[in-house]
Amino acid sequence: MRAYTAGDIDVPLLEETIGQNFERMVAAFPLHDALLEAAAVPGEEARRWSYSKMNDDVDRLARALLAMGMAVGDRIGIWSPNCAEWTLLQYATAKIGVILVNINPAYRSHELTFVARHNGMRMLVVAPSEPKSDYVAMARAALAECTELRDLVFLPDHGAEGLTAGDPVVAAEQTYAELLRRADDVGHSALQVRLAGLDPHHPINIQYTSGTTGFPKGATLTHHNILNNGFSIGELLGYTAQDRVVLPVPFYHCFGMVIGNLAALSHGAATIIPSRGFTPAAALEAVQDFGGTSLYGVPTMFIAELALADFASYDLSTLRTGVMAGSLCPIEVMKQVITDMNMADVAICYGMTETSPVSLMTRAGDSLDQRTQTVGRTMPHLESRIVDPATGVVLDRGDIGELCTRGYSVMTGYWDQPDKTAEAIDPEGWMHTGDLARMDVDGYVVIEGRIKDMVIRGGENIYPREIEEFLYTHPDIQDVQVVGVPDARYGETLLACVILAPGAAVMDLAALQEFCRDTLAHYKIPRLLEIRTEFPMTVSGKIRKVALREEAVARLGL
Ligand code: AMP
Repeated sequence: MRAYTAGDIDVPLLEETIGQNFERMVAAFPLHDALLEAAAVPGEEARRWSYSKMNDDVDRLARALLAMGMAVGDRIGIWSPNCAEWTLLQYATAKIGVILVNINPAYRSHELTFVARHNGMRMLVVAPSEPKSDYVAMARAALAECTELRDLVFLPDHGAEGLTAGDPVVAAEQTYAELLRRADDVGHSALQVRLAGLDPHHPINIQYTSGTTGFPKGATLTHHNILNNGFSIGELLGYTAQDRVVLPVPFYHCFGMVIGNLAALSHGAATIIPSRGFTPAAALEAVQDFGGTSLYGVPTMFIAELALADFASYDLSTLRTGVMAGSLCPIEVMKQVITDMNMADVAICYGMTETSPVSLMTRAGDSLDQRTQTVGRTMPHLESRIVDPATGVVLDRGDIGELCTRGYSVMTGYWDQPDKTAEAIDPEGWMHTGDLARMDVDGYVVIEGRIKDMVIRGGENIYPREIEEFLYTHPDIQDVQVVGVPDARYGETLLACVILAPGAAVMDLAALQEFCRDTLAHYKIPRLLEIRTEFPMTVSGKIRKVALREEAVARLGL
């Protein structure tokens, strides 16, 4: 049986723009909550938008951008941690056909300038500076270096010091409040004319993917790509206008803006921002305070929430579902989320930025094993297959090879990099993910790791995931990553990097090996152990395995 499946097609794809879809929801649920942001500073009020109020504010921003002369296809960058203005800008740009460029808040000057130049960004919306990131100064530096970048807009600061109206000294700078005042120069009909003339198959978003080598690449996505992906995810999670979706995941990444915002807001549900950056306590507080029905996170976020000393004191009784995604989702963590966090219907999503992102997902009716041990099956209207990475031949069910995705969700390409696009998407339209996977007889897929993370020890292929899954069952291990490091005799050997559970006794290599002895084949037993307090992470919460390996190699002098 070939490792190929196609998703259901019973619910038709949406043929509308993001703006049209949103206006339908506004008409259907004007007074429902759309967007809630927990107070950033104790004592402040949460900020709240109903669908109708959000639409008013989106339109005001959209008209202000029209007043600035923004044309269809122009690029506006957003460089900020999560905040309500992020969502408002996402919808305002979509309504006027401007391409929103998501910029990773962890970027520094050099990367910002690269990205702004690369897509000829016209305007950059900038977060207030923070102790660990002087956004304003770095944005000003980019402005000086990028000829096409003409406008900086500074977002308001909540409580703390920041730029206020009147501060900017340069003509190219304005505050968000000043930008909004320009809306008075453009009538509502001009906005409606622009909205009605947009094509859902035109690009609306560029998301830069880190890549492993060289400069970031700009995955270019249309309304059709991301609206349909978000909508499908919402359908499979059973979202209705009663749902309240708590989003500790970053908006600059598709996890926040598509799996989060688009999935919820295409169903009349509410989106909830617990904090600007992730903190486990803020996420659980938001569930409790706003009656969250759905909670998202990469695995490390759920691990941190479950590990809170006062975890049991949070009222999580309103939760029913959520999404875990972004990297391998440990089976033990999934089980705890289901039982201890009340998330009976939690789903695993698998995907990548280049495919909008989600291409595989578990379903509510799946067995516990399918929902915890696989990343589910192919999403509606998409196709998946597993190929031999060397020959491209489609493999049999059960065999490990490269996972490929085809269908409406595949990006139009990397911005201005046709050569890189051709390396990723083959002539038949298959996006090559770079992930190793196998498909079972029922079409459920298990991710075995990245092609580049596979360890080859003395000729044996080792998939670190298998060992990590086993080590997670050790009561003293809170989190673990297994990487291959150079070894004179075997080429590569296994290093286990362990974060101990709170209160756990010290663990040495001999004890760890003893734990593995009867369960893992000898060549899969780690030969090195490192106890750590944290892992190097990306801002989207993914563990940087390459960095982890490099650090260890340097420290161990290998
Ligand atoms: P990004 O483009 O940043 O979303 O990263 C995409 C990559 O994240 C994929 O190619 C996978 O390696 C990884 N990934 C995403 N979701 C999952 C998942 N549920 N299980 C395993 N790996 C995942």
